[in-house]
Amino acid sequence: MDAHPTGPKENSVDLDALRADLEQVVRESEATIAALNAEEIDEDGDIVEDDAAEAADFTESDREDAMVDAAEARRAEALEALARMEAGSYGVCVDCGKEIPEARLQFRPEAARCVEDQERFEEAEA
Ligand SMILES: [Zn+2]
Repeated sequence: MDAHPTGPKENSVDLDALRADLEQVVRESEATIAALNAEEIDEDGDIVEDDAAEAADFTESDREDAMVDAAEARRAEALEALARMEAGSYGVCVDCGKEIPEARLQFRPEAARCVEDQERFEEAEA
């Protein structure tokens, strides 16, 4: 009769929705990596490898390598976020330990840091 929501109530962040988002990021990144690593996909949707043709075109290959690197980095971030969910530390900045705002997690579910620490982190990397 009364349809009450299930799941933990102590946390306002909808972890199930964010987990689904992260799993989608992982799938999309893997599809991107597979597509970039493949010369073509046949009519059954199977990837047809053609390493010789790819190796012959270094410029195209370099550009694709950069895109693969970006997709792999995003996939790794999403997997790390999923691991933090399993560990119960998800949604907390890995640097300062403060809660990451829900709006930021919805925009970037793989975020490991609050906005301030992410900016500091990126400046340090640059
Ligand atoms: Zn922080």
